[in-house]
Amino acid sequence: MLCDAHCHFFSQAFFAALAKQRDGASPPDICRDLQWDEPLSAEALADRWVQELDRHGVTRTALIASIPGDASSVAAAVAKHPSRFVGYFMVDPSAADAVERTRRALTDLRLRVVCLFPAMHHVPLDDERTHRVVEAAAAVPGAAVFVHCGLLSIGVRRKLGLPSRFDLRLGDPLAVSRLALAFPGTPFLIPHFGAGLFREALMAADACPNIYVDTSSSNSWIRYTPGLTLEAVFKTALAVLGPSRLLFGTDSSFFPRGWQKAIYADQRSILRGLGVGQADSDLVFGGNFERLFPA
Ligand SMILES: [Zn+2]
Repeated sequence: MLCDAHCHFFSQAFFAALAKQRDGASPPDICRDLQWDEPLSAEALADRWVQELDRHGVTRTALIASIPGDASSVAAAVAKHPSRFVGYFMVDPSAADAVERTRRALTDLRLRVVCLFPAMHHVPLDDERTHRVVEAAAAVPGAAVFVHCGLLSIGVRRKLGLPSRFDLRLGDPLAVSRLALAFPGTPFLIPHFGAGLFREALMAADACPNIYVDTSSSNSWIRYTPGLTLEAVFKTALAVLGPSRLLFGTDSSFFPRGWQKAIYADQRSILRGLGVGQADSDLVFGGNFERLFPA
């Protein structure tokens, strides 16, 4: 059992949104510049993901709709392969219909996780608008809330030279703990060990048993702390959170690169090196995800 708690679903709508921000470009232009494969329909992209997961022996994966308003693309993928995908979707709490969109995605569209990017949407986590979105999610049994904290850097925007006016002050794990305390029955997921705010992510998760941390991406934020290694990060996270609240993830996104096996191999070998036993390792690499998001 191998589950990936963090993969992006780059739909046609995602590329259309990028193209719109780059004057006069079309989605194929964008893909040519990036040397990425052209966007497929949601159904065809879902099939491609399944082939990719099969090739690597991955049982199930998260798929994140990576622009607000794109929940239906991931919903189509989940509807086609319900045993393989768990649908995550991004909501901008400043949108007038944010609560309605959240409710609809978690019920009618059968997605499981609402994703907040406070630094991108410029809505603080303690803002009433955020609270209302989280409240709508918490009302749906089995739903979870993902909150991007710490450094937010979106590779595709950087590569395309698109400006990113992110307010990094807003992605604070300590503010997630406030929401997690208010909604104790709802799991909260903080990606990339807090992406630079590791200590704060650990503090938040230590205070709230419903906070989980994902291990995804290259975790290059470790360079902000002199001498820090990913081994030390795993060791500390396991010591504070135990093995039941760490979710393995890769942050895979585009094709032809596909599923990022090197990240898996690296993290597998780190856990082995730390002497983490089979049962605990199984939780990190799939058991926790299965428990949170039963098929
Ligand atoms: Zn990501």
